Amino acid sequence: MKRKTKIVATLGPSSENLVDKLQHFVDVFRVNLAHGDDESQERYFRLLREKAPNSSILADLPGPKLRIGDIPKMELRRGQRVTFSPYHDIIVNEPIFFSSVIPGSIILLSDGMIKVKVEEVEKDEVRGVVLTDGILTARKGINIPDMKLASGLTDNDLRLMRKALEMGADYLGLSFVLSENDVRKVKESVGSRVWVISKIEKGQAVDRLFNIVEESDAVMVARGDLGVEIGLENLPYVQRKIIRTSKLLGKPVILATQVLESMVNSPLPSRAEVIDVANSVYQGVDAIMLSDETAAGKYPLEAIQYLDQIISSSEDKVKPLRPSPMRSPDDAIAYASLSLSELSRSEVIAVHSRSGLSVIRVSRLRPKATILALSPDNSITRKLKLCWGVQPVSIQETAGNINDLISIIEGKCREIGIKGNVVIVAGDPKMESGRTNLLKLHFID
Ligand code: PGA
Ligand code: MN
Repeated sequence: MKRKTKIVATLGPSSENLVDKLQHFVDVFRVNLAHGDDESQERYFRLLREKAPNSSILADLPGPKLRIGDIPKMELRRGQRVTFSPYHDIIVNEPIFFSSVIPGSIILLSDGMIKVKVEEVEKDEVRGVVLTDGILTARKGINIPDMKLASGLTDNDLRLMRKALEMGADYLGLSFVLSENDVRKVKESVGSRVWVISKIEKGQAVDRLFNIVEESDAVMVARGDLGVEIGLENLPYVQRKIIRTSKLLGKPVILATQVLESMVNSPLPSRAEVIDVANSVYQGVDAIMLSDETAAGKYPLEAIQYLDQIISSSEDKVKPLRPSPMRSPDDAIAYASLSLSELSRSEVIAVHSRSGLSVIRVSRLRPKATILALSPDNSITRKLKLCWGVQPVSIQETAGNINDLISIIEGKCREIGIKGNVVIVAGDPKMESGRTNLLKLHFID
């Protein structure tokens, strides 16, 4: 049986020549727009369209991530006084940095490795004392957990967003989302062409989690920045909360960052990493993402193969948790499709969906049967690749009534060799799209 938990892989220098091989395992490729330039980003999109036409593409917007400027390698020692300035010492070229800190603020550098406490703030100079030491190099990230911004969207994001749409992205990743307003703003400007994936990586976003998830099409547990912002010790609980909230509201959820981190430099993962992957499969994430492992690591193909094997082995042995109360009659149909497929021994639940919602309603409940997602809209079938247990199939015909719909589904099932009992879930074509009100046990001889 095919693996149900999906794999997202970040494309980068280590993997751009391996797309042919990787695409057998990868459901969604991520192009991280925080790196590279216009030329390399366009090249990545071209490459994916050519070599991996069956994988969908996540264009990840950088958001208001602050970075150190160009500095030589610096060793910072505990107790040392340092200055952040556009002109000397630790170079920072981001005006917002200087207006976001106050005396007493903690600045975290290089993924939280180095901690600096702010003592004095002037217009374009911030002075502080180093609390935990380490080595700082150019372009490393800056996190300021108590920084309060009104919006997580920058002008650069808006520019990149338009570009990503032109290049054919299926999803937009919103980094450092702060509230549902950020999501709404993007959705208003892009419509439903792409899914908006909110990356939860600020304490401020955790405080507004329910509203953000409700407004988003999908969610990412962005453990990298989130861990720095809220403290590593709080990650396990918050990860669980993000996954539960997403599943409750029927939004696909991606687990990200340091999933197989040791494989950046080693052909084998650590025990802790393997168990972390299995545990997130048990918690019922829709997809697991690799970042540096495939973008910049030494063993990109091995990392993907390991991830594929750990997921398959874990799914084989433990039944995923079935979530949460139902919210509507539409959900009740989806719920009934599970027991119908079990009692009729149907290996396939064929879901016809114009908007994708009927498919998500079934996927959310984690059925044993394969979810065959049929849609006349190719952009919907591409996006559904992210969802747990879903095998999307494009169909050409649109149905005018329920009888047409059933014969279209039957025809497609025959074409791909599905026989016997099939559970059909759909919305009446005469109703508006987005509804689920049809359930049928159908026999194909
Ligand atoms: P990034 O997001 O890789 O774009 O920083 C993921 C994370 O922070 O975990
Ligand atoms: Mn991040």
